[in-house]
Amino acid sequence: MRALVKVAPGPGMEVREVPIPPCGPSDVLIRVQHAGVCGTDLHIWEWDAWAAGRLRPPLTIGHEFAGTIVEVGGEARADGLLQVGDQVTAEGHIVCGHCLPCRTGDAHVCQRTRIIGVDRDGAFAEYIAMPASNVMKLDGLPTEIGAIMDPAGNAVHTVLEGGNVPGSAVLVLGCGPIGCFAVGVARAAGASLVIASDMNPTRLALARSMGAGVSLNPATDDVATRCRELTGGNGADLVCEMSGHPAGHETAFAAARLGGRINFLGTPSQATRVEFARDIIFKGLTLYGVTGRRMYGTWHQLFRLLRAGQFDPRPVITHRFHMEQMGEAVQVIRNGGAGKVILEIGA
Ligand SMILES: [Zn+2]
Ligand SMILES: [Zn+2]
Repeated sequence: MRALVKVAPGPGMEVREVPIPPCGPSDVLIRVQHAGVCGTDLHIWEWDAWAAGRLRPPLTIGHEFAGTIVEVGGEARADGLLQVGDQVTAEGHIVCGHCLPCRTGDAHVCQRTRIIGVDRDGAFAEYIAMPASNVMKLDGLPTEIGAIMDPAGNAVHTVLEGGNVPGSAVLVLGCGPIGCFAVGVARAAGASLVIASDMNPTRLALARSMGAGVSLNPATDDVATRCRELTGGNGADLVCEMSGHPAGHETAFAAARLGGRINFLGTPSQATRVEFARDIIFKGLTLYGVTGRRMYGTWHQLFRLLRAGQFDPRPVITHRFHMEQMGEAVQVIRNGGAGKVILEIGA
C-alpha cells in the first residue's frame, strides 16, 4: 500500500510502498478515506527537537482519520460490535488500561500512551490496523468529518471541562483549527458570548464564521481590557487557551474573571511567568490542562453535537490535498492561510 513515511531522521516525508499492516485478533483493519493534517505532523515534517526526541523512523505519519472497515480480527468479530463495511473513526491514543489514570477514568493521561503516527505507524496510508476498542462507527456522518473528530474532540474537551458554559462568556485565545472548533462548541453549548482572539485575520474570519460574536487581534486590541469591557467589567467566565504562547497565558490570567476558569490546550515551547498570588490564588481561578480527549465521554459528547446539527465543523476545513502533496499542505499551514487541512486518501 502507499503510505506517507518519515523515512529517516531529518526534515520531510515520502510516499512509499509499504506492507499492509496485519490485523491482530482484537484489531480491525480500516481502509483510510480522509485524514486530517495537524500541527503535530508539521513538527514531524520539520523534525524539531520534540520530533527528534520522540520518533523512531521509519514510521508512517498521521493520527486523525476516518475510513471503512475491511477486516475484523477474531476476538473483535466475537464482540459483534464492528462489521466489515462500517464507516468509522478512531481515538489515536492507544492506552495501557492498567495504570492508575487508566483505572480511575483518566485514560487520556495514561502513563503509557502510544499515539498512532508518533509512537507507532499512523493513518496517512491506504490502510491502518487499530484496536477495536479505539474504533467508533460514524453512523452516517461523512468520513471527512470523522477525520477531524480528533481535533474537534480536543475542542469539546477544552470547552466543556468544568461544565458551566450555558449563559457564560467564553474567551478563545488562539484560533487555529482547534480554537475555531472551540468557538463552535461553545456556541453549541449555550455560551451567551464567545470572544475570539488571534493575530491572523484569516483565522479570525474563520472564528467569526463558527459563531464568535467578537473577534480581537492582540496586534491592535488590548484583549484582556476589551474582554472586561464586553462582560460588564467582570472578565471571561471561561478562557480556552489554545495559543500555547506566553503572551496568550498572560492574557488568559488577566482576562479570566474572579472565580473563573482557564482550560489550557496550547502547548508552550518555553516557560511562562505567572504571579501566583495575583493571577491564580487571589482570583480564585480553576486551571485545567487539556490532554487529548476523555475516553470516551468527549467522543460521545462530540457525536451528539454533530448528529444533532448543533456543531458543524465544516467551515473550518479550507484545503484538501492528496498524500503526494503533503509538502504543499505543510506550506499552506505554515503560511497561516489555512484552517483545517484534509488529506484525501481513498475514495
Ligand atoms: Zn492532531
Ligand atoms: Zn494507562
